[in-house]
Amino acid sequence: MPKKTTKPADTPAKPRPEIQLKEGITLKEFAEKMRMKPKELVEKLGEHGLSLSVNDPVDESLIEFFTKLTGIEIELVPIEKGLRQQAQSRTEELVPRPPVVTIMGHVDHGKTTLLDAIRASHLVDKEPGGITQHIGAYKVRVKNRSITFIDTPGHEAFTQLRARGAKITDIVVLVVAADDGVMPQTKEAIDHAKAANVPIIVAINKIDKPEANIDRVKQQLQKEGLLVEDWGGQVISVTVSAKEKKNLDELLEMILLLSDVVEVKANPKVKAQGVILEARLDSQRGPVATVIIENGNLTQGENFISGTTYGKVRAMFDDNGRPLKKAGPSDPAEVLGFSEVARAGDYFQVVEDQETARAISQQRLSRVKKEEPARAEHVTLDDLFKQIGEGQVKELPLVIKADVQGSVEVLLEILPSLSSDKVRINIVHAATGAVTEADVLLASASKAVILGYNVKPSSKILELAKKEGVEIRTYKIIYELTEEIKKALVGLLEPTIKETYLGRAEIRRIFQIPKVGTIAGCFVLDGRIVRNAQVRLLRNKEVIHQGRIASLKRLKDNVTEVKKDYECGIGLEGIKDIQPGDQIEAYLTEKVQPE
Ligand code: GDP
Repeated sequence: MPKKTTKPADTPAKPRPEIQLKEGITLKEFAEKMRMKPKELVEKLGEHGLSLSVNDPVDESLIEFFTKLTGIEIELVPIEKGLRQQAQSRTEELVPRPPVVTIMGHVDHGKTTLLDAIRASHLVDKEPGGITQHIGAYKVRVKNRSITFIDTPGHEAFTQLRARGAKITDIVVLVVAADDGVMPQTKEAIDHAKAANVPIIVAINKIDKPEANIDRVKQQLQKEGLLVEDWGGQVISVTVSAKEKKNLDELLEMILLLSDVVEVKANPKVKAQGVILEARLDSQRGPVATVIIENGNLTQGENFISGTTYGKVRAMFDDNGRPLKKAGPSDPAEVLGFSEVARAGDYFQVVEDQETARAISQQRLSRVKKEEPARAEHVTLDDLFKQIGEGQVKELPLVIKADVQGSVEVLLEILPSLSSDKVRINIVHAATGAVTEADVLLASASKAVILGYNVKPSSKILELAKKEGVEIRTYKIIYELTEEIKKALVGLLEPTIKETYLGRAEIRRIFQIPKVGTIAGCFVLDGRIVRNAQVRLLRNKEVIHQGRIASLKRLKDNVTEVKKDYECGIGLEGIKDIQPGDQIEAYLTEKVQPE
């Protein structure tokens, strides 16, 4: 779901192209946008061997060609991207929608039991007829409002979707068993939720157990940076018993309260758009997918596009297997009518008509075939540093895995201190143990690099990392690890420029030399003039041009340097407008790396 705040690392600022075009645009519409007659454009392209008609869709290769021809930068914006931005930007049309919740926590702390208990006690419609279906999410009614729960608990599935670009979850419910307390996966879950910028509600579970120790859980949570409200913090916590269905209403009310605070909203007035939560091939019904609707209302018969697949909504079902006529914001709907099996994490977008849907799908398919299978964006330390250098990235996200707790603590202390005012080191997650699948997905979703200290990733993990475009760097000495980060950070920070004054010369005469150009006949007033030096042209003590010395002559000979009180001929690069009486000030610059 679109969030109010997006992490800067998620959106590196790329230079905006001059013209943005919506995917699916035809050559005719494109020509009109470029203020050309469609026929003329077709003819012009024809002259260059491209035989197209006015109704053909504009694709990447055509744009590339057009840019080469005209120098105009054009970006083809995926239809979903443009429409989603549009939907959320019309703030006056936004209305509250039900929150979408994912339950996370350590194994055996009661996630599944809680999900089942909530579902059983808060069915949307208690009338018989519905058979509980597992479509990946379900909806419950609380008083007059509703909440959608993703029914695959855990942070792995959550981050997997996020790694593909989808942000479905609005609120994370962190389940901590009161008899067991904060465990490694509890910590992981906290880091995964934080990395995604999703607010957390804590459900302290199993309070029916005699060994339950609620205060101990709150204390442990505080150590993890989650200070609960009754201890003076901001984090809502509710004590529950999933087994005895105790306090579930309170938990649900708190979820709704938080969703009001963070303003979970949707635009119901646009064409329906959503995210694919699950997709599979049903032997009888063909390709089916569960879509979580984000904006708009999806109805039967509408045409849609999702990744490279497209289709027409043939039928829709809710999580009780009942036919749906309409699915609105935050609703999970099982949709039939896809041309192929969709991909979990891809966007789902309703389009005008079947032709548009098919055309976009075909364009995308041909692109995928031509290029190579869609690959995750590659994240390497080098790339990140490059982007930092270009000012696109202001933080360096890291996932740290080390052999023992002592090493994790040392790294947690040293690494953040390497942050400067220009680049912040952001430790997304740090834990002991081998690099896991969840670590790789978290790194992929957060565009982070994994640093392993005294841990060796298995070949399976290396393979996944390669697929996800995540870099894993391993070290055996802490010093090496920190030095490498330090060096690279310093190496790519904007160097400061130090200037050294060389000397000054006055222009006395101007010579026009055939084939060479303008030469300034000068007298060196001060210091020395050096060939290749940078120069400023001063007129009446004001700098009017900057450039470089291209040639330097004493009498007829090329020289590298001319000292004070000597005459010389100076050829200037980048400066044409010179007059007798102007002064040339020569200087050198060097880049100085910050300490
Ligand atoms: P998950 O791995 O987090 O999904 O945990 P489960 O939901 O499978 O629960 C693990 C075990 O804890 C099961 O035996 C549940 O019956 C039990 N359990 C879950 N919630 C409670 C609770 O509130 N009280 C008690 N006493 N047991 C619970």
